[in-house]
Amino acid sequence: MALFPCLDGLPMSHRVLIPHDMEAPPVLPAGVTAHRLSGAAMGTSWSVQALAPQGVARDTLAALVQAKLDRVIREMSTWKADSGISRFNRAEAGSWHSLPDAFYTVLDAALSMAADSGGAFDPTLGPLVDLWGFGPEGRHDRLPDAVMLDAARARCGWQRIGLDRARRSARQPGAIRLDFSGIAKGYAVDLVAQALRDAGCVSWLVEIGGELSGLGVKSDGQPWWVALERPPGDDGQGMLVALHGLAIATSGDYRRYFDHDGRRYAHTIDPRSGRPVTHDLASVTVLHRQCMVADALATVLTVLGVDEGMVFARERNIAALFISGGASGYRESMTPALAGMLE
Ligand code: ADP
Ligand code: MG
Repeated sequence: MALFPCLDGLPMSHRVLIPHDMEAPPVLPAGVTAHRLSGAAMGTSWSVQALAPQGVARDTLAALVQAKLDRVIREMSTWKADSGISRFNRAEAGSWHSLPDAFYTVLDAALSMAADSGGAFDPTLGPLVDLWGFGPEGRHDRLPDAVMLDAARARCGWQRIGLDRARRSARQPGAIRLDFSGIAKGYAVDLVAQALRDAGCVSWLVEIGGELSGLGVKSDGQPWWVALERPPGDDGQGMLVALHGLAIATSGDYRRYFDHDGRRYAHTIDPRSGRPVTHDLASVTVLHRQCMVADALATVLTVLGVDEGMVFARERNIAALFISGGASGYRESMTPALAGMLE
């Protein structure tokens, strides 16, 4: 039987994506209440819609969500001098650090992604991110010279981080600056979703700064329909995905960038050159069960570009949409896993 037998009422102008290898959404128990929450955190906005069981008040959900967001910031924000990650970044060369759970989980995932992507994802790019004006040190429009670039590159390198998985500890090799901005938002989405599950919710849509995760159906029986983000000015035919048991993340060159001498410098750095990526990808969207993985993969595919990225995604059965080009026209490339979800 189809996962969602009733697809009435969808805008005809959109293509529709349905996950196929999923369990059917749970039937909503009697007495569930729909709640909407929103706020600001991690330099962006967030929102949660959830169907809560009887006895779980809105304030309870709000406190749960806030606690998870606070935890991500406390452990992993490079914008806070007293966070766990900032303390690690300042720590002495050769020192070992026992990591709190969230920090450990994200570092472990980030290093695995770095290994699997041949270093296209690198959670140690802090000095380069700052050099190009995308980090906590703030924005500037001048371009770094070769000496500055070499100095920053010498301080990066995910292979230099020691990770002791048995002790859940990491070694600061000296002057390494971790930067989880390419993965932490996705992790935070997963953490909030898990908190909703623990609270007994059977249906939700969690969103932080454009990364989302959804489960189940709304009160009207419809899944959480989410439009895949498209670059501004792109008038291609939109896509809607039924976000059930699935998360979505987009990396876009229009999200954070500066222009200099007629060129756009966006905030994804190619670790091979130490410079912002140069190919003409405008955005990459990835669907995955875990938002943390979708978030990191969107960055990986942005670094690799359409050609290399398509090979990487095909080999791993990743559902991804690449949009290349610019104001003069956009082109779309879908991986087979994404095309397989088209209704
Ligand atoms: P957003 O969701 O805000 O568009 P992304 O998930 O695309 O952000 O991540 C971009 C951020 O990740 C950058 O601002 C930078 O801090 C960091 N970053 C840039 N290049 C890389 C890379 N190659 N690997 C890992 N992190 C990166
Ligand atoms: Mg990312």
